[in-house]
Amino acid sequence: MPVAQFSQTRLSGSTHDNPENHYFSCRNKRANNGLCATTHHIRVDYITALVANHLRRTLHFASLFEDEFVKIVVDERYREVQLRQKKNQRELADAQTRDKEINRLYERIYEDQALGRLPEDRFLMLAAKYDDEQAALRQRIL
Ligand SMILES: [Zn+2]
Repeated sequence: MPVAQFSQTRLSGSTHDNPENHYFSCRNKRANNGLCATTHHIRVDYITALVANHLRRTLHFASLFEDEFVKIVVDERYREVQLRQKKNQRELADAQTRDKEINRLYERIYEDQALGRLPEDRFLMLAAKYDDEQAALRQRIL
């Protein structure tokens, strides 16, 4: 099935000495996340031309093969929705597991405090911490 492809558009003119040029700078180097070893830039007009070109080709493809285009878009939407649902289900399961865990931890510190193994101030501190976490979790579960 034919799919619209990127094709690079060369822009004339020098790069850094033209004050009319604007750039996007990659932040990976500054963020120090290990993705980029050097700082680098891309010209805004270059990326604009690239996106416009891609859009033009996509529209051309859509006008030639309307049914296929609709199918591609719908399939892609469906895939995204499915991925999001899966992610939400996983997060919900994790939150529910942690919620139960907190109930057990709460019982433990309550018992420890009742049996004199946990000082009152420690108990209150931990209880407040678990309350906060559980309130945040339940906000997400609902
Ligand atoms: Zn980079």
